[in-house]
Amino acid sequence: MNCLICDRIKLIEENNNPYFVTELETGYVVLGDHQRFKGYTLFLCKKHVTELHHLEHQNKMKFLEEMSLIAQAVQQAFNAEKMNYELLGNGDTHLHWHLFPRNSGDTPTKGPVWWLPKEELWNDKYRPSKEELDVLKEKLKVEIEKLKNNTIQSII
Ligand SMILES: [Zn+2]
Repeated sequence: MNCLICDRIKLIEENNNPYFVTELETGYVVLGDHQRFKGYTLFLCKKHVTELHHLEHQNKMKFLEEMSLIAQAVQQAFNAEKMNYELLGNGDTHLHWHLFPRNSGDTPTKGPVWWLPKEELWNDKYRPSKEELDVLKEKLKVEIEKLKNNTIQSII
């Protein structure tokens, strides 16, 4: 089976994925390879399934809850006015959320990021250096930890 998402998860498990931020119960948080939108983050499901309803109920609810927590952390870490959430999986049929921090004026229209040409969205000039990547990852990790602690406290 050839799956790009499974390949990336394997790299995380081998401690060899420079984009890896943190692990949650149902998935892995990674930064996007291209940072046209600073803070663009992905949440990779631990299970190789193609649809949300293919997950067992409890796991599905937890996956959605954790996605929401990560989105909030991304918004706080990168001061986004609005978050965009996308679960597509047409090319890579393994559940993975695209979480885009958006700000007014970041695209010529107010449309989805996918309205930008691929040459712009995936341009190599938006690949972060190792130093930039470290800064972005740390910012996001701090916010995720804060929110996780808040959730635990509200349960107690
Ligand atoms: Zn997969």
